[in-house]
Amino acid sequence: MVESFGKALVLREWDIPMPGPGQILVKTEACGVCHTDVHAAGGDWPVKPTLPFIPGHEGIGRVSAVGPGVTLVREGDRVGVPWLHSACGHCEYCLTAWETICASEIFTGYTVNGAFAEYLLADPNYVAHIPAGLSAAAAAPIICAGVTSYKGLKQTEARPGEWVVISGIGGLGHLAIQYAKHMGLNVCAVDIEDGKLALAKTLGADATVNATVGDPVAAVRKATAGGAHGVLITAPSIPAFKQGVGMTRKHGICVLVGIPPGDFPVPLFEVVANCISIRGSFVGNREDLAESLSFAVEGKVKANIELQPLSAINAVFKRLEHGDVPARVVLQFQ
Ligand code: NAD
Ligand code: ZN
Ligand code: ZN
Repeated sequence: MVESFGKALVLREWDIPMPGPGQILVKTEACGVCHTDVHAAGGDWPVKPTLPFIPGHEGIGRVSAVGPGVTLVREGDRVGVPWLHSACGHCEYCLTAWETICASEIFTGYTVNGAFAEYLLADPNYVAHIPAGLSAAAAAPIICAGVTSYKGLKQTEARPGEWVVISGIGGLGHLAIQYAKHMGLNVCAVDIEDGKLALAKTLGADATVNATVGDPVAAVRKATAGGAHGVLITAPSIPAFKQGVGMTRKHGICVLVGIPPGDFPVPLFEVVANCISIRGSFVGNREDLAESLSFAVEGKVKANIELQPLSAINAVFKRLEHGDVPARVVLQFQ
């Protein structure tokens, strides 16, 4: 649990919650650790979680009980409890498959308790249905890192044969490369660590740029013959954002996904005179979630995972802050 912002998480015994009407209880098998959990525990963002809370929004497990009125899932089904815990279902955003920006949205591991726990409550209307053939640990990173990368790539509107830059080759970025290659895109991977760039190459990146060496914007523009048609910034680092705009080709789309605290200066003349679009992208809707899982069950996209016990969480958070996680840590529950 996070009991105070910026402090180590603490292990607490907690009563198993009872599913109320329309709720389900999920017994956690695995939960990925997203950099968002680090932001949540740090109280980094303008809208803060209410203390104390249990983070974790890449939780996969079996439905162990259903509350009154639940018909969509049954006891024993394997589900994923994603960042979007629930939404209103009837506003202009919900009605147009933009439930992720519903004004009444509730976030797992933020607004309500998440999956760094043996049990958690979920809304059956918003859980991911985990295909048979995908283990809990393999599915976990897909339900946030995977769907967010996949949706972010769609939002770049880059077409097969065009270039995308993926800035930040961590949990999100290493999956983004794989989705992008299967979408027929040329990939230029950008990170500040050579180890991440070496991983990017093995995953199919066509070019790599280390953002700490020389002028990374010029290097990307050279590698992509004038800038990438689409740029996806997953780096939790402010300098990556201004650089990402500079890496965007004329008339291209720069999609912001990483959410480090703070703002970045937008080079106004460059954006206007080059007709560049800058666009935010926030996880993905339930159809995006199902599609992103299909790539995984078909073996096209596979998260590089490191298994750890729940008790290792504070060390994992430290490593994430320092960019020391090779791709994705998944907490494994007994
Ligand atoms: P991560 O820590 O696994 O990966 C981050 C990567 O960025 C690392 O490889 C790191 O070396 C690299 N990096 C750091 N500084 C960089 C720079 N200046 N230029 C290029 N690369 C740099 O993190 P993650 O779990 O992939 O999450 C990344 C960010 O995305 C976080 O801010 C997280 O909150 C956010 N996020 C957003 C959404 C959304 O819906 N928009 C969803 C999930 C995560
Ligand atoms: Zn996440
Ligand atoms: Zn709504």
